[in-house]
Amino acid sequence: RRIITTELATEETRFEQSLRPQRLQEYIGQKKLKSMLQVYIDAARQRRESLDHVLFYGPPGLGKTTLSGIIANEMGVHMKITSGPAIEKPGDMAAILNHLQEGDVLFVDEIHRLNRQVEEVLYPAMEDFAIDIVLGKESNAKSIRLALPHFTLVGATTRAGLLSAPLRDRFGVVQRLEFYEQDELQEIVLRSAKVLGVEIDAAGSAEIARRSRGTPRLANRLLRRVRDFAEVKYSGAVTEAVARDALNLLDVDTCGLDAGDRTMLNLIIDMFHGGPVGLDTLAAALGEDAGTLEEVYEPYLLMQGFLIRTPRGRVATEYAYSHLNRKKEDEEQA
Ligand code: ADP
Repeated sequence: RRIITTELATEETRFEQSLRPQRLQEYIGQKKLKSMLQVYIDAARQRRESLDHVLFYGPPGLGKTTLSGIIANEMGVHMKITSGPAIEKPGDMAAILNHLQEGDVLFVDEIHRLNRQVEEVLYPAMEDFAIDIVLGKESNAKSIRLALPHFTLVGATTRAGLLSAPLRDRFGVVQRLEFYEQDELQEIVLRSAKVLGVEIDAAGSAEIARRSRGTPRLANRLLRRVRDFAEVKYSGAVTEAVARDALNLLDVDTCGLDAGDRTMLNLIIDMFHGGPVGLDTLAAALGEDAGTLEEVYEPYLLMQGFLIRTPRGRVATEYAYSHLNRKKEDEEQA
């Protein structure tokens, strides 16, 4: 299993839950997004209205679920959590909506995976806070409109490109989450260490931050692995040396790339002479889904400059060659 995954084991879900900031003040990074949300929340509270529907998109583990919980806390309402693949029938969605209380936040993870009929229940719900129910069959069928409490739908997706236009258009706030800066990740590691009661020094937390792929979920995950390592093999405190040792063992390199990232870059170099190689070809060669490659694994490599996108496909950069200790073919021949 890759260390960067889109799915979580339950035990891990509990671990993550324990590390979630509850208030906007505690939420580290995403400064622009945070200040905008603060304005929306303040305005909605002043008007005593529910917050506009919000769509968060971006790679996994950047804090979409966390932010949704924070919105509910700040608004003083409950959050109900569900996900696109979990809701199979329009009736299931209608039941969920019908059980909401005034002002509640409904969080729908992987919202791009809702099927069409379920999505259609959402349209009047989001727009008019109502659902249309069809009673009777065929010629006797008639539709009645049922009023719903006002609620805020918070949708999260790693694949914004897959969201249908009518659904996307019904969100008043659409926000992209960015990868985190080094110092923000370090702050997250220090905060989590405090919550978990792990002894860690500045250099130890910096080392974990550096290798966290710009992603809080990974920072927390790595902290946990390093902590285990520190307890078993060292005195229990996480220092730079302990972190480095543990992370090397976990095969997470100094730039945060894991084995899967390196496989992808090496493949571009070996099979496609460094590129350009089309997304679909690359996905097929890796046995991965092209969309997942594009929206989950690739963004960090692009942001860090290991990869560039050209009209003819993906190209491994000089930086990728040097980081992987590879030589370009023309240099090899020389
Ligand atoms: P997503 O929903 O985008 O996949 P989550 O909200 O589940 O990501 O966040 C994953 C983990 O990272 C959570 O355990 C959470 O505690 C942590 N996390 C995310 N963003 C932040 C942040 N800004 N500050 C502190 N911890 C964060």
